[in-house]
Amino acid sequence: MSQDCIFCKIVRGEIPCKKVYEDDEILAFHDIRPAAPVHFLIIPKQHIESLATADMSHQAVLGRMLAKAGELAVSQGLTDGFRTIVNTGRVGCQEVYHLHIHILGGPNPLGPMLAH
Ligand code: 5GP
Ligand code: ZN
Repeated sequence: MSQDCIFCKIVRGEIPCKKVYEDDEILAFHDIRPAAPVHFLIIPKQHIESLATADMSHQAVLGRMLAKAGELAVSQGLTDGFRTIVNTGRVGCQEVYHLHIHILGGPNPLGPMLAH
């Protein structure tokens, strides 16, 4: 847990969120600034800064996040596909330094992978 981390605060219930799913190890909630008709985040409850600092000790929880992604996407109506994004570090334009997977989708194709 990190005292000042916004997502740790969400895990602790100090900041409200629109919850999609929760278990002992992971939490999923809707993004506050959705970039698609459906846009939610899957995070580990433990504070891991980013994929750049994750290591093999995080294997189980990282696997859990990905293994749940499809089921959670379908639960939010994304039955015809979705996009997963993990922004990492300065170059990846990571804004919140608590590792998270974005799940994005909607009725229409999302377009090219990167905006140029
Ligand atoms: P990043 O750029 O780090 O990959 O994405 C961070 C995401 O967290 C952004 O899409 C942003 O809208 C979302 N976000 C930031 N603060 C909050 C918050 O307090 N609540 C929720 N639900 N999402 C947040
Ligand atoms: Zn955190």
